[in-house]
Amino acid sequence: MHSREIVDETLRLKALGMTDHAIAAQCSVSVQALRHWRYGTRRAPHTTADRSFYCPVCANGDVDPAAYSYLLGLYLGDGYIGHIRNGVDYLSIACSDTWPGLIEECAEAIPKVFPVKVFRVRRKGCTEVKGASKHWRCVFPQNGRGMKHSRPIVLDPWQQQIVDDHTPSFVRGLIHSDGCRVSNRVRKKTGEGWKYYEYPRYFFSNTSQEISDLLTNGLDRLGIAWKRRVEEKPPHHDAFIVSVAQKAAVARMDEFVGPKY
Ligand SMILES: [Zn+2]
Repeated sequence: MHSREIVDETLRLKALGMTDHAIAAQCSVSVQALRHWRYGTRRAPHTTADRSFYCPVCANGDVDPAAYSYLLGLYLGDGYIGHIRNGVDYLSIACSDTWPGLIEECAEAIPKVFPVKVFRVRRKGCTEVKGASKHWRCVFPQNGRGMKHSRPIVLDPWQQQIVDDHTPSFVRGLIHSDGCRVSNRVRKKTGEGWKYYEYPRYFFSNTSQEISDLLTNGLDRLGIAWKRRVEEKPPHHDAFIVSVAQKAAVARMDEFVGPKY
């Protein structure tokens, strides 16, 4: 067994362009071990010399598609890409401190997309989960100037393919960022006296109609009934609110989303 630090260090050295043999010697581990950490069970790419082979856009790399689909949902809700230096960017996902489990899930998803070290920055009421890479703008080409509602959000074909193949992960990411599951408790009089009924439902709110469309397209693919209303918020921007309230639809959502934690 090797510590997470050693695994991270080998990945970091690889990203700097060192050969597997040099890394193995420096970290006192086997070449097979490092290749296993790097590729997991996936097929090794043809060009191991390409130091950006993880990038699915500017190299022949690939990403863990389920983790990517989830992280894309988080990114579209609460993420942004900032610049550090020398072409290195950081991805930042703002996670509410109310849901410590979701902070963990986000921190686990990021290195499945890229083998980067994840760090956390405490802010008031939230924690930024961050990772640095030269390729965030490749894998999240939706980055750009201004707020997400003020620019077009269109998925590239390869992203759409991943989202189509892993729609539940994508929907889960969107709900974990800009959505919630609430439970309304209602008291009703019956023949046997007062009874309480729970009406769980899901809500999602975003100021970008295109992001809202990505969610509803995903729900359509999964056969989940939804409704949308627009809350006008002049003079700023409207909020597109998607709700899933039908019993069967909520039950289906509970299979892969569930309450925040
Ligand atoms: Zn790239």
